[in-house]
Amino acid sequence: MEKIKVKNTFVEIDGDEMTRIVWKMLKERMLDPFLDYHAEYYDLGLLNREATGDQVTADAAHAIRKHGVGVKCATITPNDQRMTEYKLTQCWKSPNATLRGILDGTVFRKPIMVSNIKPAVRTWKKPITVGRHAYGDVYKNQEMKIPGPGRAEIVFTPANGEPVRGTIHEFTGPGIIQGMHNTEKSIRSFARACMNYALAEKTDLWFSTKDTISKTYDGFFKAVFDEEFANFKEGFEKAGIKYYYTLIDALVASIVKSEGGMLWACKNYDGDVMSDLVASAYGSLAMMTSVLVSPEGHFEYEAAHGTVTDQYYQHLKGEETSTNSIALIYAWTGCLRKRGEMDGTPEVVAFADKLEAATRETIESGTMTGDLIGIVDPNPANRRVNTEEFIDAVTENLVRKL
Ligand code: NAP
Ligand code: MG
Repeated sequence: MEKIKVKNTFVEIDGDEMTRIVWKMLKERMLDPFLDYHAEYYDLGLLNREATGDQVTADAAHAIRKHGVGVKCATITPNDQRMTEYKLTQCWKSPNATLRGILDGTVFRKPIMVSNIKPAVRTWKKPITVGRHAYGDVYKNQEMKIPGPGRAEIVFTPANGEPVRGTIHEFTGPGIIQGMHNTEKSIRSFARACMNYALAEKTDLWFSTKDTISKTYDGFFKAVFDEEFANFKEGFEKAGIKYYYTLIDALVASIVKSEGGMLWACKNYDGDVMSDLVASAYGSLAMMTSVLVSPEGHFEYEAAHGTVTDQYYQHLKGEETSTNSIALIYAWTGCLRKRGEMDGTPEVVAFADKLEAATRETIESGTMTGDLIGIVDPNPANRRVNTEEFIDAVTENLVRKL
């Protein structure tokens, strides 16, 4: 069989632990035999981040800016325990935070749906994508305990000018206060990234805040979205998609009664909470894809889950593992499809479609990893397979389609 040619370079970012092992298997068994591609490779495994003083992470981010598309394996975010385990000289920053910072991106998480795993919400027929603004608000706040009576104020001192103040509360007893911020630049990037993503995926965009209560803060988010949408209105009309703005409480009520299929743009805290709620309602973290989209339209695809540490330790002990590779497969298909769309190579897009279909059909025919056995519709055909067996089963289904 002649290999399918991927025209232009994309960026491949390797990672850690069990996902690094699965990554290698996917390439060897499912991709390399069928595709002729050139990937610019960056090893973000923790040992290489240590060896390069974490320069490799910044280099990988700049490579995505250059080539436009990348695919990333899961990586360890070090903590004290990892410092000892990997003999690190520094507790390196989260690679995802570094990539997000350099790409100025917004993260979109979308569940992968199969017919024999039902979402906990009965009406959901199509995936709900959560787009989370990953900057500011309560995540970069200043908070204080108020010991007793007194006045709490909010003060802004302009670079050249007189301070402006507002009273938060006149305390008559103990309490708490919190100050937080966001920037116009970041909110605009968030709005653009959501609108670009909605266009790319041809999906409606829903945005929610609580601007009836937070008239200035949330009101500003709404105003920026409205302004940015003026530049996207025509594109949305052409694509046959819509932009809705609603209050967040009204929106959660309609989401639960909807059939899904929208991009839900969330402020930072809302996105943190709602993306976990949505992931869990659709079944499993291992069935959730994630893509970082920059305002300029650079795309970095990955799985939403981590490096699956417990199974890696089992693997090191020589024990059998049953790691679900679906989200990693979809990270690759997302990257290949986007590369194919950008290059104008429909055969590459078709390969991505076939690989996704082969993956879904494998589960739908009852072959799956251990994490799904407990949540799939009961069927005598269901069987639990190990990490390699699952990859081989998907590859067999893929070969039938090529
Ligand atoms: P995790 O690797 O996502 O694993 C959490 C649990 O979810 C696992 O113990 C496993 O449950 C289940 N799970 C997740 N993915 C699975 C898969 N593909 N197949 C089967 N089961 C799966 O998260 P974590 O244990 O909190 O973090 C592990 C490491 O990953 C940490 O060092 C963290 O820094 C890193 N991390 C990286 C990313 C990223 O790069 N995007 C994201 C999150 C975490 P069982 O225990 O039942 O097997
Ligand atoms: Mg969360």
